[in-house]
Amino acid sequence: MSGLSISKAPSKHVRVLILGAGPAGLSAALYAARADLQPLVLTGLQLGGQVSLTNTIENYPGFPEGVGGTELGELFQKQAERFGAKVELDSAQSVDLSVRPFKVPTDNGEYSAETLIVSTGANPNLLNVPGEAGLTGRGISYCATCDGWFFKDKQVVVVGGGDSALEEGLFLTRFATSVTIFHRRDSLRAGAILQKRALNHPKIKFVWNTVVTEAIGTEKLTAVKLKNVLTGEESVFLTDGLFIFIGHTPNTQIFAGQLEMENGYIKVDERMHTSVPGVFAAGEAADSHFKQVITSAGMGAAAAIEATRFLEQEVG
Ligand SMILES: Cc1cc2nc3c(=O)[nH]c(=O)nc-3n(C[C@H](O)[C@H](O)[C@H](O)COP(=O)(O)OP(=O)(O)OC[C@H]3O[C@@H](n4cnc5c(N)ncnc54)[C@H](O)[C@@H]3O)c2cc1C
Repeated sequence: MSGLSISKAPSKHVRVLILGAGPAGLSAALYAARADLQPLVLTGLQLGGQVSLTNTIENYPGFPEGVGGTELGELFQKQAERFGAKVELDSAQSVDLSVRPFKVPTDNGEYSAETLIVSTGANPNLLNVPGEAGLTGRGISYCATCDGWFFKDKQVVVVGGGDSALEEGLFLTRFATSVTIFHRRDSLRAGAILQKRALNHPKIKFVWNTVVTEAIGTEKLTAVKLKNVLTGEESVFLTDGLFIFIGHTPNTQIFAGQLEMENGYIKVDERMHTSVPGVFAAGEAADSHFKQVITSAGMGAAAAIEATRFLEQEVG
């Protein structure tokens, strides 16, 4: 040992630390800021969250003509900052929730926080095939509730075989002329009632043992390339839309073993309390059902109201 001690930057203390700068985190920031708590938001790698990946959001109230995804994220941030929220480009590396104040080492330093709001979101699982990244938002979607309307009188295809694939496929029949569901196996994982409804629906057709290997199109999606997993036979299927429903992965790995979870989603009660007092969770990190901007924002507001009450009652 050289005898030299490595000095670590002292941790910065905040009353409300918010992990994530998507709709949930920035809405929590707005509410905590308006309670005069000067919250700090760590953005992670995706400023604005998943909305920044989409061109237009048409189902967030207050924007009758729709609003750009990036623009909506910027507006959320601006509104929270107006009341004193601080937003830092930094990511939590881990958390220590065994002591209060909680300890959160980050890429750029360390924070100690009296309350923590986890709004680290989730990501839709990708097919990871050529063409997918470039055509997302140009015919490829991961959300029927968000984008179904754009496919009125069009032909669409769905990938997946679980509950969400069938639920979203059935939802798409409201708009599309036909919905073809490609599934890599020859049977479905979805529940029996959903299966019956989908299998009997006149607009839905199933193609079994088949995977999509490429998304084809230049400006927008025009076709998908398919492969039969039993025979290896390849074909091209013309379509206007590709909806991918093969699950979501919540960004909650750093909370494993410290917060109660279910299938990777942080468990919260109806007031966004997690299993650790003083830690709240909001948005897709804690929501496997709705996955919308408005529901995530609502959960964020609720989490901040509860964090404010917690500080009043427990910390003073
Ligand atoms: C392509 C696409 C289109 C969509 N279209 C619509 C639509 O039209 N309408 C609609 O209502 N919904 C839409 N959605 C869904 C909507 O975007 C999500 O429901 C919403 O963004 C979830 O908000 P969130 O705040 O929970 O999480 P996210 O938006 O996922 O944000 C998570 C945040 O956490 C941060 N983060 C992650 N890990 C860390 C860490 N360790 N430390 C600090 N920060 C971290 C990320 O960087 C990010 O800022 C769409 C989603 C996608 C992918």
